[in-house]
Amino acid sequence: MRYQGREVDIEGRVRLVMESALTARDRVGVQDFVLLENYNSEAAFIENLRRRFRENLIYTYIGSVLVSVNPYKELEIYSKQQMERYRGVSFYEISPHIYALSDNTYRAMRTERKDQCILISGESGAGKTEASKKILLYYAVTCPTNDHMAILGDRLLQSNPVLEAFGNAKTLRNDNSSRFGKYMDVQFDFRGTPVGGHILNYLLEKSRVVHQNHGERNFHIFYQLLDGGDDDLLITLDLERNPQNYRYLVKGNCPRVSSISDKNNWKVVMKALPVIGFTEEEKLLNIIASVLHLGNTQFGEGEEGDTYITTETQTSNLAKLLGVDGSALREALTHKKLTAKGEEMISPLNYEQAVSARDALAKAVYGRTFTWLVEKINQSLALKVSKDSSVIGLLDIYGFEVLQQNSFEQFCINYCNEKLQQLFIELTLRSEQEEYETEGIAWETVQYFDNKIICDLIEEKHKGIISILDEECLRPGETCDVSFLEKLEDTVGSHPHFITHKLANGKTRRVVSREEFRLLHYAGEVNYNVNGFLDKNNDLLNRNLKEVMCQSDNQILSHCFRREEVIDQKRPEMAATQFKNSLMKLMEILMSKEPSYVRCIKPNDAKQPGRFDEVLVRHQVKYLGLMENLRVRRAGFAYRRRFEAFLQRYKPLCPETWPNWHGRLVDGVSTLVNHLGYKAEEYKLGRSKIFIRFPKTLFTTEDALEYKI
Ligand code: ADP
Ligand code: MG
Repeated sequence: MRYQGREVDIEGRVRLVMESALTARDRVGVQDFVLLENYNSEAAFIENLRRRFRENLIYTYIGSVLVSVNPYKELEIYSKQQMERYRGVSFYEISPHIYALSDNTYRAMRTERKDQCILISGESGAGKTEASKKILLYYAVTCPTNDHMAILGDRLLQSNPVLEAFGNAKTLRNDNSSRFGKYMDVQFDFRGTPVGGHILNYLLEKSRVVHQNHGERNFHIFYQLLDGGDDDLLITLDLERNPQNYRYLVKGNCPRVSSISDKNNWKVVMKALPVIGFTEEEKLLNIIASVLHLGNTQFGEGEEGDTYITTETQTSNLAKLLGVDGSALREALTHKKLTAKGEEMISPLNYEQAVSARDALAKAVYGRTFTWLVEKINQSLALKVSKDSSVIGLLDIYGFEVLQQNSFEQFCINYCNEKLQQLFIELTLRSEQEEYETEGIAWETVQYFDNKIICDLIEEKHKGIISILDEECLRPGETCDVSFLEKLEDTVGSHPHFITHKLANGKTRRVVSREEFRLLHYAGEVNYNVNGFLDKNNDLLNRNLKEVMCQSDNQILSHCFRREEVIDQKRPEMAATQFKNSLMKLMEILMSKEPSYVRCIKPNDAKQPGRFDEVLVRHQVKYLGLMENLRVRRAGFAYRRRFEAFLQRYKPLCPETWPNWHGRLVDGVSTLVNHLGYKAEEYKLGRSKIFIRFPKTLFTTEDALEYKI
């Protein structure tokens, strides 16, 4: 084959490589998957990724989608010089890069005056958050700014370490795993200067505050405070340095992480807080400390099944840190208030109830403080509202998750991924279709799996899993996780994407236990254990604890716990429904924008450079829907290019177009391809572009060009 020995990129640029044994394309693969000979072959796809990864080429396109493989080592490709290389350069002219995508998105926003969004997906540890930070950095460094707005770039960048300290944790999969979803808007004025930002946060994994699996940690901020805070501060907060002294920090048996310096990160966070407009540092630290003290609050059981606190002195300090009355707090941790027939009654909690009330308080305090923090950051990013501003949105949200045991959290996360897949299908197919329409080329139907049926199964009003879960939480009498499962079997048992132990009759390949239901997601099958579903969806905090908290003289807390909430007897929305509604809003936001995609892949589970675990990668290629993506992109034509660019490049190949073509562009291209002997089924001419069906046609033309030169 004549095109061996060099890399042909999608714009037809040729890179000669002086190699004898291995050709360049054999060595580094193609930089756009649409140029793969066999686009239906998953093996070829993965082989291409592997070759590029081996050469430290971590980025590859599928058309306009950027696929990124986490290198697990610092590559010299993010410098300022590199940023300059990508500025104003057409997408395909140089090697694929996150900066190319950032730049293209920025230019599309400016020239087309249309809001953009960049959707970053991938499983935990695949590099989503790093990608989003690189995009932000690119804008902060390369966009025009002025004295007044320079501060914004700083704030955008400094908000990251703060959010990460409070919202990230070490997990088995990622030492710095984001435990919340994040959508961030960056606003630009008509000059292209960044003028504001706004963050929406989704579903913080609050359960981590009170429990961590083996080998995992609580949120970074706790360890940072204990390791980095100076002696005086720790004395004021009544804390000891050793994290092992705190029950909320010992569950994972993993106080230190070799890749993380809690001490240094503490300094970074403390420096960042004033930049993003923080003055309430002390109040914030009181809250962090109080969560640790809350975890150490212990209970004893009285003879009549009542409960009392055994850590009295600690509780007094705790009350001080929370800014609430000590005896009221003590009472609220061990009793509940009921209203029966209009009369208030106090009844003692048993041991388990007290423990769970304490944990609920810790989760509520931490979760609400996190939300407050995001609001605070938003205030500091809301610099200027200009009417004709345009927006680039960045979505860094949890990827499809399949653990050994999957619970309510995974259910929500995977539901979110179903929604994003829906959006992707809709937007990609729509934009392909639109391009064909504007070019006047007949649209050819693409076969793909529409996952709407699964979204409906989860979210449909009255009939979907979330509705049934809510109903079960509200139903008076004895409800429990198992009764929820039974209800599911009754209601959605016949759905083709739903299976339980009872319904399976031993027919499924893997076992579904008696406590599980299985969903057949677009990306694969996942078993969910119903244990804890009701509690997590209820997310209840006893009313008397709320009453105590809303009287706090810590202004952050009194802001987080509103009096109205106590007075208002209406049941607030439950967790899954809240999440569903926030996803609906997110979909609306994203639908109104022009999307770009970054698909992140994790090459191995050991977090090590240079290792490419094929089985693991294959899973992700599947979950990310990359083969489908490629099929959609290739369904019609592998390659498209504007007439002038095509003519400019290949005009030496035809005497009638060389050295210059003077007629209409389309006639020039037509003359050229006739001369080259393109067959009718190989190409189509649109209004401004030529569409070529197979990569081979293009490679042959490239070969001819090389021969000519
Ligand atoms: P995710 O957000 O998808 O869970 P992260 O973005 O936090 O994953 O990445 C996990 C880790 O992988 C990072 O802490 C970093 O060590 C490494 N990493 C990710 N992307 C890159 C990159 N482009 N270059 C170098 N290291 C990276
Ligand atoms: Mg992350």
